Parts: sequence; structure tokens; C-alpha cells
Amino acid sequence: MQTKIWRVDPQTPDETLLAEAAQAILSGQLVAFPTETVYGLGANAFDRQAVRRVFLAKGRPAQDPLIVHLADAELLSQVAREIPPFAETLARAFWPGPLTLVLPKQEGVLDEITAGLPTVAVRVPAHAVALGLLRASGVPIVAPSANRFGHVSPTTAQHVLEDLGGLIEGILDGGSTHVGVESTVLDLTCTPPHLLRPGGVSLEALQEQIGEVVYLPQKPPEEGELTAQRSPGLLAKHYAPQAELWLFAGQRERALQNMRQTAEQACRSGRRVGVLVGEEARGFFSELPLVLYSLGSEQRYDEMAKRLYAGLRALDRQGVELILAREVTGEGLGLAIRDRLRRAASRVIE
Ligand code: AMP
Ligand code: MG
Repeated sequence: MQTKIWRVDPQTPDETLLAEAAQAILSGQLVAFPTETVYGLGANAFDRQAVRRVFLAKGRPAQDPLIVHLADAELLSQVAREIPPFAETLARAFWPGPLTLVLPKQEGVLDEITAGLPTVAVRVPAHAVALGLLRASGVPIVAPSANRFGHVSPTTAQHVLEDLGGLIEGILDGGSTHVGVESTVLDLTCTPPHLLRPGGVSLEALQEQIGEVVYLPQKPPEEGELTAQRSPGLLAKHYAPQAELWLFAGQRERALQNMRQTAEQACRSGRRVGVLVGEEARGFFSELPLVLYSLGSEQRYDEMAKRLYAGLRALDRQGVELILAREVTGEGLGLAIRDRLRRAASRVIE
């Protein structure tokens, strides 16, 4: 299969191209598209065959439920019922935006989407291309990240092509995504609500709107661990590059010194080493034969989040066998970055 690319302007996408892509969705095809977080792999949420093909194309296990995307919060009752007041408050505050709400599912929502759960995850994305496609197709669209299962999420159309080229009918190419990490997933079916995945909307921003929110941070994965967490699909090892990734936690100077020593040793033993750090830490790794990918300023979590997945993919592409990264602390988007790095890591060094 040849994967068609529709190149569109991210702010004002061509209506004719959106209509073409929407037609593909309505005829059961798979179309990847940019959202503000990462690229999604879209299928008509009412088309069982198309939804099944999403799992096949990604190599995603059936127990990992999909997020349903809507053009507008008004359409929520198409997929969810018993919408609690919290949901309305949050929708008003953050939609369109990188917040996914888990709600009791509406009758008729396909079991394939929810992995047989009585709940459905839903959001309205803040991206003109995503919204344009949703409006033009007139149906809710399921869209997990458009990567092979377990791999790093795509933040450009090129990333999608690398993972899914030849396996899906089309890609709307709207350039790089803005946030760079996935949406925040919040379970509203329990009291108080549970943060299942930190993401583009911060825990603090949620708490400001609805008060108490419970978050149980990701613990470092055990060797070879692949057990499902509270939320199906939130596997401990996920979002991972091909190379092994070691994460250095604790006090900044000490962690960076330790990273430098580890890098030196690994280089000496002939391993191809990559380092993923903030711009300010570059000096620690000078004169070593390694590949350094800068995440931008350590002070700017928004920049770091945006560059994180592109960095992991770039290091993989350069044939690096071992990636050394420093743990990110702090609030806001820092929580999402820490969560993704922890899931990508095979070792956390305290
Ligand atoms: P992705 O679309 O690849 O970013 O992954 C979507 C994630 O949303 C899944 O891995 C689940 O953890 C979460 N999710 C989707 N549906 C549900 C649900 N009904 N209940 C809890 N979590 C969900
Ligand atoms: Mg994913």
C-alpha cells in the first residue's frame, strides 16, 4: 500500500484536502493527522473494521483502549453518558486542548475502542487540522499516537511515515506538533478523580479547577516488566527508543558528573553513546566521542517536551546503542517529561 501525504498549512488547512482525507476516514481508511500533542492515527469511531485495523497497523494489544476525538464538547453525549459537573468545568477550561477525560461510555461505543471497559476516554484536540478533519468527516475519530506500539510517539509526519509507511492510507502533514507529549488522562469515574497519565495540561491546573486530584507516580520499571497498570495500556515500559536508555536522577551536578563518567566508560568500551540533556549541561560532555541532542533550555519545560521524542528518534537514527538522560524534576509539564523518560528507561540511577 502506498501511503498518501496531504501537505497542509497547520493554521489554515486547505478545505479540499481535508474533505479528501475525511472521505478516506468515512470509507474505512486510516489517516494520521497532527494534533497539538503528537500525531494521531485516525479511524472512524463508528466503523468496527477500521478500528480493528488501527490495532493491527500499530501492533497494539487489544487490551489498550483508544481515545475518541470530538470536534466539539457539545458532542460529548455521542460517546459518554452521566457527564458529571466536573467534566463540564474541565471541558470549559481546557477544550479544545490536551486533556482526555475518562467517563462512563455511551451505549453503542465499540468494545474494541474501550477494550471492553464500561468507560470511554475522550477529548477535543486544539489543532486546526485535527478539528478540520473531525468537522469534515462528521464522526468521532479514534486516534492513538501514530507509532508502532511501545515506540516513541511521532511529532512530525516523517516520524509517522517511518513507523507506519505502507500500513496506512494517508497522512495529513501539518508540520511539527506544538506540545510534543501526549494528553493528560484524567479518570472522572472515581472520587476524587485520578490522574492516569500526566501530559499537556498540568496537575496544578486541574487542581485549580476541581480541587483534589489523586496521582500515583510511575515507579521505575523492573527488569523486563510489562504488566498493565491501573489504566489498561499504561504499561511501565513504553514510549521507548530502540537504544537502551539510562536515566540519572538526584542532585543536578552529581547526576551530570555521573553521566559523564558513565559516558566515558561506555565510549571507551566501544559503545556508541547518545546524551539527551538541556543546553546548559552541554559543557559536561565536551570532547567525548558521543552524540549529544540538546533539549533546549533546562528552564523551559515546554521546549524540552517539544523536543523530547524528536531527540529519542534522532539518536536512534544515528545508531546510538546507549542513551544517557537526566531526570527532570519540577511541576507543570515537568511531570509529563519525567513520566515519559521513566517509561522509556531500562535503568534509573539514583
Ligand atoms: P495513546 O492514544 O496511544 O496516547 O494512548 C491512550 C491511552 O489512554 C491508553 O494507553 C490508555 O491508558 C488511556 N485510556 C484510553 N481509554 C481509557 C479508558 N477507558 N480508561 C482508562 N484509560 C484509558
Ligand atoms: Mg501511544
